[in-house]
Amino acid sequence: MIQVDNLEYAYPKAAVPTIKGVNFHVADGEIFGFLGPSGAGKSTLQNILTGMLKGYRGNVYIGNQELRAIQEDFYEEIGVAFEFPNFYSRFTVLENLRFFGGLYNRKTEDPYKLLKMVGLEQHGNTRFSNLSKGMKMRLNFCRALLHDPALLFLDEPTSGLDPVNKELLKEVILKKKEEGKTMIVTTHDMQIAEDLCDRVAFIVNGKIALIDKPRNLKLQYGRRKLSVEYKLASTLHCQEFDLDGIGSNMAFIKLIQEKEIETIHSQETTLGNIFVKVTGKSLA
Ligand code: ADP
Ligand code: MG
Repeated sequence: MIQVDNLEYAYPKAAVPTIKGVNFHVADGEIFGFLGPSGAGKSTLQNILTGMLKGYRGNVYIGNQELRAIQEDFYEEIGVAFEFPNFYSRFTVLENLRFFGGLYNRKTEDPYKLLKMVGLEQHGNTRFSNLSKGMKMRLNFCRALLHDPALLFLDEPTSGLDPVNKELLKEVILKKKEEGKTMIVTTHDMQIAEDLCDRVAFIVNGKIALIDKPRNLKLQYGRRKLSVEYKLASTLHCQEFDLDGIGSNMAFIKLIQEKEIETIHSQETTLGNIFVKVTGKSLA
């Protein structure tokens, strides 16, 4: 679906490039995540891939077409949710969706159906300027889906969302994956990357430090240990065991048979911890 070779990009007048030799591919139907701290170059990358920023070096193929050769109809095929929602502030929610829907040649989705999907059905007649940040972000997502594109670019889709709406949006994104959509998600939220992405690329200072499946990373960087918290004479104790051979580890078996167990955890690490380990930077 997407193939990027030796991509480099410098903003006009910038002393150093913002994107410095990036290579990756995204398969059909995949959710591919760019995970990195603020300023890493994620939005710049998305803006290049969506044809907004021109004058890059290297090659970007979407389908079989190099981006430099794309025509206007490219925008009939992709959906883009920009980092900062951009709407007509004096139009209502529905007026905005109808306006943007009217820009497409193909048949567009029922705006009300989209609003319902993200829990905004009560706000169709609310002026855009009266929406909260989280509502604007959800509307932004609807706008990207208006023409039912096969390829979606989502820049920080959950920023500004409360935990409930974040979960809701995650579910909707996973539903879109089930429908066969391909998605590029950029985020600095490791939980989003972990819960949504088939593969993630760690990006720091305009370079990709690593690309892998979240699960592989967690297995590779996690400790193959199990920790058991148990109560003994009303004080809490903790003991660690090797995961390897746990089924025949008599000390472990005896412990769980005889003690009052509070918690048992294997010691997978988080993507955030791995990010720090690999890049030396935090995701903040
Ligand atoms: P991220 O989305 O990962 O937070 P950005 O792509 O927004 O990162 O920014 C990457 C770098 O490019 C930052 O150093 C930022 O200051 C710079 N940058 C972003 N937009 C512009 C612009 N329009 N002109 C010049 N520099 C920019
Ligand atoms: Mg950004």
